Amino acid sequence: MDGAAAETLFERIIAGEIPADVVHQDEATFAFRDINPQARVHVLVVPRKRYRNVAELAAADPGLLADLLRSCRTVAGLEGIEETGYRVVFNTDADAGQTVFHVHAHVLGGEQLGLFGS
Ligand code: 5GP
Repeated sequence: MDGAAAETLFERIIAGEIPADVVHQDEATFAFRDINPQARVHVLVVPRKRYRNVAELAAADPGLLADLLRSCRTVAGLEGIEETGYRVVFNTDADAGQTVFHVHAHVLGGEQLGLFGS
C-alpha cells in the first residue's frame, strides 16, 4: 500500500464523501454499483484498506484478498446471479485499462457476457 499517495476516488466513496449505490458492506470490504455499467449487473467490490492492485493485495494480505472474493460471492447472491453465473475481473495496471488505483473486483453478470480480450 502506498500510504503517502493522495486519497483515491474509492476511499472517498467508502467515506461517504461521494454518493454511490451501495450493494453490500462489511468490516473489510465495500461494494457499490459501477457508474458506467458494462452489464446488467456491474458491481465494484473493494477492500476498505487500499492496495494499488490485486497483485499487491495478494502479496501483502492474502487473507484480505479472500475476504474480497467472499464479498464478490455475497454480491452475486444479493444480485440473484449466483446460479446463472458471473465474471470477476481485476484490471491490473496500464494495458488492462486500470483507472482507479485502489484494487477493485468488477462483478459482472445478469446476462450472457461476451468474450473478453482486446
Ligand atoms: P478500472 O478501469 O480501474 O478497472 O475500473 C474503474 C471503474 O470505476 C470503472 O468501471 C468506472 O466506470 C468506475 N467509476 C469511475 N468513477 C466512478 C464513480 O464516481 N462512481 C462509481 N460508482 N464508479 C465509478
